[in-house]
Amino acid sequence: MRSSFRYIIFFVMGVVFPFIAIAGVPMTKKNEPKEVQNLSTQSFHEILFISSYMTDYSYVEKTIDGFETAYEQLHGKYPISIESLDCSSLNEVVDWQKKMDVILRKHSNPRAVVLLGLQACITYFSETDSKWRNIPVYCAMSPRYVASLYNGCGIKSVEEKTINDRGTVDLFYLIKGFNIRFASFYEYGIREDFFLMEKFFPDFKNVAILSDNSYEGLTYLRQVKDFFKRHPNVYYHSIDGRYYDMQEAVEQYRKLSPKTILLLCGWTYDKNYTIYMNNAMNIFRKTNPEIPIFSLVPSGIGDCAIGGYVPIYKNYEEGADIAKRIYRELELKENVAVDIHTLDKVYMFDEIELQKYGIEKEMLPHGSIVLNQKPTTVDLLHRYKWQLVAFVSIFFLLMVGLIISLIYSTHIKKLTENIEKQNDLLKKERDELEISQHQLRIAKERAEEANQMKTNFVSNMSHEIRTPLNAITGFSNLLADSVSENPELKEYVKIITDNSDMLLRLINDILDISRLESGKSQFVYETVDIVPYCKGVINTIAQTVEKGVKLRFKCEESRVIIKTDITRLQQVLINLLNNAVKYTHEGYIELWVEKSVEDSELRIIVSDTGIGIPKNKQNIIFERFEKVNEYVQGTGLGLSICQMTLNKMGGKIRVDNDYIQGARFICTIPLTK
Ligand code: ADP
Repeated sequence: MRSSFRYIIFFVMGVVFPFIAIAGVPMTKKNEPKEVQNLSTQSFHEILFISSYMTDYSYVEKTIDGFETAYEQLHGKYPISIESLDCSSLNEVVDWQKKMDVILRKHSNPRAVVLLGLQACITYFSETDSKWRNIPVYCAMSPRYVASLYNGCGIKSVEEKTINDRGTVDLFYLIKGFNIRFASFYEYGIREDFFLMEKFFPDFKNVAILSDNSYEGLTYLRQVKDFFKRHPNVYYHSIDGRYYDMQEAVEQYRKLSPKTILLLCGWTYDKNYTIYMNNAMNIFRKTNPEIPIFSLVPSGIGDCAIGGYVPIYKNYEEGADIAKRIYRELELKENVAVDIHTLDKVYMFDEIELQKYGIEKEMLPHGSIVLNQKPTTVDLLHRYKWQLVAFVSIFFLLMVGLIISLIYSTHIKKLTENIEKQNDLLKKERDELEISQHQLRIAKERAEEANQMKTNFVSNMSHEIRTPLNAITGFSNLLADSVSENPELKEYVKIITDNSDMLLRLINDILDISRLESGKSQFVYETVDIVPYCKGVINTIAQTVEKGVKLRFKCEESRVIIKTDITRLQQVLINLLNNAVKYTHEGYIELWVEKSVEDSELRIIVSDTGIGIPKNKQNIIFERFEKVNEYVQGTGLGLSICQMTLNKMGGKIRVDNDYIQGARFICTIPLTK
């Protein structure tokens, strides 16, 4: 099933691939199955990646990822093929060149070749066909100096009949004769690491070299040995993975004497090709934990090594740089200068290890990177700034809320106190009001009681006085008849009669007022024509009018029918006309009755041409006992009685202040009554 699927793929690729390539569409994309790419038997101006290791090895993956991302962004048109030599331990060294030859036969016409890792470089640079020397080549992930290999390993570029003392080959030399456009190699900082050892551990005597059974291990071993050959005062001890398995190597490590420092590159393969990936160094370390470790590569620092002067790998960036360069050179046809360089290095340390060996930070070279640092306050602030901001904001909001609620509660407390005070005050005032109302009610009751008593008293007294007064009046009239002969006695009797009359009138007036005030006087309303009654009053008064004073009655209608208490109305008219008679000595006295339907009232107007009433007295004369002239005879009660009587009838009385020939009183009585 699987193999038939492969045939279908072969067929499809064989037919479709050329068309797509000619059209300039990238053939393979990121994440496309590598198997499909490898099945291609032709290379159509592709960009050929040849990796020394499996493509899922993290450094390889990062480099290719950087390349593909950048190339995609540039819309590069060439397809990418990725091949791997799958190099592992040195035991397979004889296969490497063969694998390279197979790949190059398979991809016979690439537009560019990208070599990743040292095995890819040395095998490619062994190619003698001029075709491979002309194709643009881009190298990365390889050390500059690589170990030379024994004659017969099949890799011509690094084969040596007799491996010389140094036993390394410079890639700068190997690349000569090839169309190298870009090469980024790294170098080990052996010399700098050695200086660090001397600085931090001046008493050290021995250096242990731990190298595994890989080409990198051999490359490292050669260089370190070469270095220490030039420092004979330092004894070095090599634990060489080519000759030890893991267990034997660990035993060697355990036996290392004190005052030994380990210079580490890495340990992946032992002599039996067993692979130890990440935790190999921990196994070593546990057996001899006091041995200080310096590393030539960054991977050992942060885990077990104190530090070292290590290359700064930039796999992703290098991949992207190669992509940009290929795009510019091959697609834009730009003439870009060749770039062959070694990677920058940096001093890198692990704070935990520094502390373990009591190495002060001040001893570190300037610009050192320190891993596993305890975060400073500033770091912590920076790391937790958002949590801090959130905490401070919440705290601030809570504080603001608390302050506001405190202010409000204080405010509300004050308001409550004020309201309570106001309530108390109001309660007090209400109590006082109730007391004063009560007192007022009592006072009113007492006043009413007193008024009633006064009225009763006045009424009783008036009755009591009137009875003997009537007797005096009656008997003085009898007396007048008997003394008619004696003018002097007659005069005396007249004085008695006049004064008795006056007293009787006063008593009657007081009684009237008293009754009107107490409401005891009854008003009997009847519908009458008041004209004859008015004429009757005129006739009664006529005898008292002085000579030369005309008395007249004026009414435009022959009958004026109203509903009224005619007796009391007559009393009012008599009072008014009597006053007019009293103060008029010439001219006329007029009673004018007028019915106004418009205002629905009856007007009774009494006018005279007498002495008149001064304007400032026109209002007060209606008050009791008020008189304009105190020496003129009269009680000062007549007008009060008129006003009270008319008011009881629903009417009014006033002085006409526009009338200037004498006095004019205008009485109005509602017709609706
Ligand atoms: P009296 O019994 O004194 O007339 P009244 O209450 O009837 O009492 O009148 C009060 C006062 O009004 C009188 O004393 C008088 O001074 C004045 N008065 C009333 N009518 C007239 C009038 N027609 N002409 C002038 N003065 C008058």
